[in-house]
Amino acid sequence: MMSNPSAATSESSRYYENTFREDYELEKNLIVDQDKDTICDDFKETLSASVKSLMRELERNKNYFENSTDFSIYTGTTGIANLYYHYGTNFNDPSYISRANETIERSLSRLKTSKRLITFLCGSAGPLALGAVINHLHFAKDKSRSMIADLAELSKHVIGKNSDCPDELLYGRAGYLYALLFVNNRITPPPFEASLIKQVIGCILNSGQVTAKAVRSEFPLLYSWHDKLYLGGAHGLAGILFLLLQAVPYLTEYQLKEQIEPAIHYLMKMRFVSGNFPSSVGNQSDKLVQWCHGAPSMTMLFHQAYKVFGKPEYLQVALGCGDVVWSRGLLKKGYGICHGVAGNAYTFLYLYQATKEIKHLYRACKFAEWCMNYGKHQNRTPDRPFSLFEGLAGTIYFLIDVQQPLFANFPAYAV
Ligand SMILES: [Zn+2]
Repeated sequence: MMSNPSAATSESSRYYENTFREDYELEKNLIVDQDKDTICDDFKETLSASVKSLMRELERNKNYFENSTDFSIYTGTTGIANLYYHYGTNFNDPSYISRANETIERSLSRLKTSKRLITFLCGSAGPLALGAVINHLHFAKDKSRSMIADLAELSKHVIGKNSDCPDELLYGRAGYLYALLFVNNRITPPPFEASLIKQVIGCILNSGQVTAKAVRSEFPLLYSWHDKLYLGGAHGLAGILFLLLQAVPYLTEYQLKEQIEPAIHYLMKMRFVSGNFPSSVGNQSDKLVQWCHGAPSMTMLFHQAYKVFGKPEYLQVALGCGDVVWSRGLLKKGYGICHGVAGNAYTFLYLYQATKEIKHLYRACKFAEWCMNYGKHQNRTPDRPFSLFEGLAGTIYFLIDVQQPLFANFPAYAV
């Protein structure tokens, strides 16, 4: 029915050569309908059927994750709860919303909070924030309030005088900021005081200036993680800037124009000729095209910068990243959100949201088609094969999102 990408690529390559024809322009492509500017009904049905069949596959393997002591969104039980909630709300199935709530309750009852676990993705802030929102909207408001209080309590590790907290998304302040924004965007009136959010932002900006000065960089803001100046979404500058640009109502004009935008400009200068970005300062190898390092999270940052500042040059950078992901984004290592095809495909959904050009929707759908053949093009099994960020749950999350492309949002990263 459709052209197939070639699997006959060199062993050293990280990705399958993309031989999909960009046949969305043909009258009879079966994926997107140019006239209606939407996904063809048959393909939508195929996506929907695939989501249900992959959910059954997840169910068959629940022994592998239900009793896990990893409670995180990233690779643990709350990540599965996040998918249940996404499925329940999108397919209007309250039983999945209940299952999400039960999973979070079980996790929270066994969770020990510590100062190392302050983020939405990898810490206790994930189950607390998601639990607070689900309880507020569907179950018990008093439980929600108590979770919000616990979440606020974590701030002492984040903004305290002697806090040695990192700043990146997975384990640092940006990951705590995400939890606060996630809750404030979903509960009315927003429960967290603006003053708390502003303090977290102030700490992040201050820390970035200190590091940039310490390494005598021209960058106005830089962040160190395990002795490297990472630039990507998971551990680096792009992830931190993306979070800050989603917190615009809490920023001063000075922070936005004199601190954050100049950092975006410097980052833009680091681009490879290919349009991809290095994973850290000084690393000249143009290899990684995945959300955690490289073009996909840069698309999201520059798309957000375009929305905030309105400058077309930012959209051009994002579009360049889109071409990189299209040609090099069918990764051999798998289908996950963090470093796999599903995460990469969000690139096209954001570009479709920005431009409304059918080409990007088509590209997202072709990557979705690839993901529906789950497991067929994968040269290694992830450590947590059913999890939200490394495994099956994340792929299903994306296959749900692609069906409503204008509302799609990268989980645990886009607020
Ligand atoms: Zn990754």
